[in-house]
Amino acid sequence: MDFLPVFQKVKGRLCLVVGGGAVGTRKAGVLLEAGAKVRVVAPEIDDELKSNANVEAVVARFEAKHLDGVTLIIAATNDRSVNKQVSELAQARNIPVNVVDDPELCSFIMPAILDRSPLMVAFSSGGASPVLTRMMRGKLESIIPHNFKRLAQFAERFRELVKQRVTNPPKRRLFWEDVLEGVIAEKVLSGDEAGGEALLREMLDKEDNVLHGEVYLVGAGPGDPDLLTFRALRLMQKADVVVYDNLVSKPIVEMTRRDAERIYVGKKRDDHTLPQEEINLLLVRLAKEGKRVLRLKGGDPFIFGRGGEEIETLAAEGIAFQVVPGITAASGVASYAGIPLTHRDHAQSCIFVTGHLKDGTMNLDWDALARPKQTVVVYMGLRGLDTLCAELVKHGMPDTTPIAIVQHGTQPTQRVITGTLATLPAIAEREKPQAPTLIIIGGVVTLREKLAWFHP
Ligand code: SAH
Repeated sequence: MDFLPVFQKVKGRLCLVVGGGAVGTRKAGVLLEAGAKVRVVAPEIDDELKSNANVEAVVARFEAKHLDGVTLIIAATNDRSVNKQVSELAQARNIPVNVVDDPELCSFIMPAILDRSPLMVAFSSGGASPVLTRMMRGKLESIIPHNFKRLAQFAERFRELVKQRVTNPPKRRLFWEDVLEGVIAEKVLSGDEAGGEALLREMLDKEDNVLHGEVYLVGAGPGDPDLLTFRALRLMQKADVVVYDNLVSKPIVEMTRRDAERIYVGKKRDDHTLPQEEINLLLVRLAKEGKRVLRLKGGDPFIFGRGGEEIETLAAEGIAFQVVPGITAASGVASYAGIPLTHRDHAQSCIFVTGHLKDGTMNLDWDALARPKQTVVVYMGLRGLDTLCAELVKHGMPDTTPIAIVQHGTQPTQRVITGTLATLPAIAEREKPQAPTLIIIGGVVTLREKLAWFHP
């Protein structure tokens, strides 16, 4: 370790910035954000900076006397001899000094920061690679969402109260872990601070300080783990129990917390491992045991996913839940198959339907589907392919209309089979695509010849 990371208090103290260019101005801005008073010394100084009440603008060349009374110094001129002079004078007086982009002249370096005040993350490569540091920040940005600020402020607000009420330190640590990882944190993160506060007080009042669990209804997208949202990933790594069905790809299930209990509830067509009502009740029971339950669904939970029914039961039982959207099969599969769902030359609208057959019939509004300049996406349609093609033609769609079947879209086993309304049923009979498959109908299918980019 070449440097000792510390967080220095500059609130109300005088700091010096030498240099009035873009860099100096930016550094002065950071110091002001941390509550410092800033003396800026430069032949020319930015007007906005000059008019800031906490800035003492000294329009002049740097002189030793400018160091008087300062706590911390940043030199950012484009003249190395000036920077060197500032550094030497500062170090002679034991005042911490940073010279921008010149580690040799620094007694301290400025880290990259991620500001979720009061939560602060500062990191540095010790000047070895600013690009690496920036990339690291990007990664952290994604796992520490912006609203963590709220959570940190919330924790700060109740710190004293919890200290008074939960006096045993190890117990208090567990209490805070529950708060910051559980229902309360989720409430605060989603903007409901009052709700979070009510639950925190309820938890304090309970003998064992334990609350009900909660359910995260999370869309896992069409299969490629890269298509998960940040929020999905965060909740996946937090849940105690994972309830998933066969549409969720294996690599995604494996990204859930290692020690989480995993419950498979099946749901292949006509082979319902657990009926929907039992899944609904299972979620309720697990949450009532105090667990954080991840209900992981393929695609988006609110698109042909029966997500609405699952949370209706939760709502009726007063269990906290949140819904995380996912990339639905139509948009994931279309992208990876090189078929834009709309296109100025081919389709001004796009319609999603489910082709699930009840008693061998497909109950769809065929006239609405057969309209020109429209893309039709059919979920769960493979078994009814013959009926689908025949009905569309019967209702006026030309039998030369292009149509594609995409098997296992976005996954390494993706396959795209194309034809027309007239030819595809026979082609599919021969090619035997494997579920899940999505059917896309319309002129946009021809664009695939030019736009396909994913070649598993
Ligand atoms: N909620 C899901 C859809 C559930 S219905 C979503 O938003 O995507 C199940 C149907 O989705 C499957 O029968 C199939 O038509 C489609 N589907 C889901 N994932 C798919 C994939 N990776 N490739 C092709 N079709 C998929």
